[in-house]
Amino acid sequence: MNKQKRVSHPIYNLLATDIEGFEFLAELALDMQWSWDHSTDEVWRQLDPELWEITHNPWVVLETVSRSRIEDMLTDSVYRKNVDDLVKIKRQNLDAPAWFQQHHAKSPLTCAAYFSLEFMLSEALPIYSGGLGNVAGDQLKAASDLGVPVVGVGLLYQQGYFRQVIDKDGAQQSLFPYNDPGQLPITPLRRADGEWLRLEIALPGYLVWLRAWQVQVGRIKLYLLDSNDAANIPAHRGITSELYGGGPELRLKQELLLGIGGWRLLNALGLKPEVCHLNEGHAAFAVLERARTFMQETGQPFDVALAATRAGNLFTTHTAVSAGFDRFTPALIKQYLGGYAEHSLEIPLHDLMALGRRDPDNILEDFNMAYLAIRGSGAVNGVSKLHGKVSRHLFEPLFPRWPADEVPVGHVTNGVHMPTWDSAPADALWTEACGKDRWVGTMKTLEQDIREISDAGLWHFRLSAGRSLVDYVRKRLSRQLTAYGAASETVQRAGNLFDPGVLTLGFARRFATYKRPNLLLHDPDRLLLLLTNPEQPVQLIIAGKAHPEDRTGQALIQEWIRFIRQPKARAHVVFLDDYDMLLSEQLVHGVDVWINTPRRPWEACGTSGMKVLVNGGINLSVLDGWWAEAYTPEVGWALGDGQEHGDDPAWDAVEANALYDLLEREVIPEFYTRDENGIPAVWVSRMRESMARLTPRFSANRAVREYTEQHYLPAAAAFRTRAADKGTIGKQMVEWRHELEKKWAALRFGEVTVETKGKQHLYEARVILKEIDPMAVRVELYAEGINDGVPVRQEMMCDSIFADASGWVIYNAAVSDDRPPDDYTVRLIPYCDGVAIPLENSRILWQR
Ligand SMILES: *Cc1c(COP(=O)(O)O)cnc(C)c1O
Repeated sequence: MNKQKRVSHPIYNLLATDIEGFEFLAELALDMQWSWDHSTDEVWRQLDPELWEITHNPWVVLETVSRSRIEDMLTDSVYRKNVDDLVKIKRQNLDAPAWFQQHHAKSPLTCAAYFSLEFMLSEALPIYSGGLGNVAGDQLKAASDLGVPVVGVGLLYQQGYFRQVIDKDGAQQSLFPYNDPGQLPITPLRRADGEWLRLEIALPGYLVWLRAWQVQVGRIKLYLLDSNDAANIPAHRGITSELYGGGPELRLKQELLLGIGGWRLLNALGLKPEVCHLNEGHAAFAVLERARTFMQETGQPFDVALAATRAGNLFTTHTAVSAGFDRFTPALIKQYLGGYAEHSLEIPLHDLMALGRRDPDNILEDFNMAYLAIRGSGAVNGVSKLHGKVSRHLFEPLFPRWPADEVPVGHVTNGVHMPTWDSAPADALWTEACGKDRWVGTMKTLEQDIREISDAGLWHFRLSAGRSLVDYVRKRLSRQLTAYGAASETVQRAGNLFDPGVLTLGFARRFATYKRPNLLLHDPDRLLLLLTNPEQPVQLIIAGKAHPEDRTGQALIQEWIRFIRQPKARAHVVFLDDYDMLLSEQLVHGVDVWINTPRRPWEACGTSGMKVLVNGGINLSVLDGWWAEAYTPEVGWALGDGQEHGDDPAWDAVEANALYDLLEREVIPEFYTRDENGIPAVWVSRMRESMARLTPRFSANRAVREYTEQHYLPAAAAFRTRAADKGTIGKQMVEWRHELEKKWAALRFGEVTVETKGKQHLYEARVILKEIDPMAVRVELYAEGINDGVPVRQEMMCDSIFADASGWVIYNAAVSDDRPPDDYTVRLIPYCDGVAIPLENSRILWQR
């Protein structure tokens, strides 16, 4: 080692960058692949076991340990070789063709930009709140595994989401520890010449500087923006301080930075994504900036630019209630976007407002981000089958007179990134049965392979998972109590809490009213009896945060704390505070049953229940979100009748009692019914079926392949078509729309006749088209689906596109006479090759 060099090294740069081999450690520490691939864990543990155990953040470990420690370790040949090998393997893996390269070699997709207000990749990068960030983080990881060319775009929050402590009165207190960027596994994004990439965004009256950061997630890059730049006025430095904090104005500013700033960042990097994926409406301003960029490149006006670019935008909606959409007052939009509309998009503010309104001319109506996202996208999806249906209903007002089931919202059910959520023993078990590469391919044989594991094998795996969880709970609680200065006997009691052989139920989620986190508490005496039954005892772990403004949610937490603090309950229930990704991982590794009790249909999908699948935990949940499509009696337990009952307290009582019944009569006895080898055979078979049937289906691997094949690839192709030749096709589409708008009012239906012949109904419809080009519309015979089935939509044809002497164009169609002729109606809708109807044009004319 060159001592001279070390002395001259500036003292404020404490990183040991001049130590030979350090750059390899840094490369490993800065790739968040360590959040799911645990091959580097030992490297960090050896550097500082205690710090590693607590933080699970390799970058913090690397920045904290002394120079001499790093130097010593790197001169140890075994350690050094391990590091070198890990780097080599990592680089080889990144270069190897993955699923995307193997299956879609000649694809129109070179880059899909994934925009989200939150990303949950690891507790080491706390820029998430919950489910939405979970979906975003897990999809980036799966995209990395599969080689799908995605880049993430998000914000870096100085404080992230709040941290929770429960005070001595059982009340939630919120804390906002500072995210020191130097301690996060991120790096400033620099230009080739070393300059930090910064962007200037115009807010009314001021310019805001944004700093850009880079996160490496395996093959994928996530770019983050923050406004805590020294060149900003103080008010602007705080824009990215907190996730979901402040009021509507702060939220609007954040969404401007994400959408407009995010798209500009991609430009500054020279990236030209064909696809822009909006994870929730928060990011919808990206649609505008993308169109503006296109205007600049092609000289087209805004409407053509939007028509051309929207084909490449995909909007994923995540809420099941209309109140969940972000809305901004006209005054706020005017203040922040008035100048942008006029000078950048070159449209009147009214036209911009119209994109976010149901009724474009209602000047009192707020601006709805989900509406903007819909008007700016080529496809829209919900996040479970049921949520697709719920969303079609929510967005019906944008498609007046269209049947609800034709509202253009499909679904891609979420999935979780299994390698992130499996425990080390689960990883070993699956590797043994299904091989190492099981989550990076098409998963075709997993269901069969995992079934091969014996009852005893599965059961012993579960028993050991239960032991680890109890261990973790004891340690965590003791550490927490010690930190709060609790009496030593309390700490000691925590160190002996729970019993590894006892059935463990887990309930952890946001304490939002619709999730009914207190349903289990409906009859506290019955719950207590159930938990303390000496023959078949049960233990319960609760965790979850309520938003700092949500008093009702906080009261629900307090209700649990009061229940737990009764002497009788204390040994059987525990509330673990500060529910985050690390805690969530530990819980899903070890609980036997994961309970979820939302009010149907308000859980859009839910992902926490999917995390127990790979670990052999079993779900007991209301038939809502993903569980409504996953549940069969072989794989778990269901609550509710699959209908909607609003927030009716009487129905809550019915479901609470059903939950107790289910636990008392089925779940608990099944767990404790053992065969001659001490194995609960029925339980184990349920475990096996849940693992085999559901794990592949509810993995992010499946979800990302679905997004890629059903959305990214077609969207990329459609965008290329429309954008080609400076947006020629886009321009034609706008002209077609304008023509149709002008002449639509003249359209009339005349007589429709039907005659039944042979086994067919023969329809003839007369239509007055006036000057409308018959190729610009389509006449259809329509019948509603029977019992929720698919509706009939049959195109009617005309012999001649020329009107007869009285101006009629005559259309004909034949359908089978299975259904009465009155079931069918004739309708006329817009038609243009490649245009999504009704998403891009919601006109419709019914004969009756
Ligand atoms: C998985 C996860 C969520 C999402 O959970 P749901 O209950 O499915 O909404 C939220 N927070 C954390 C910390 C998680 O790990």
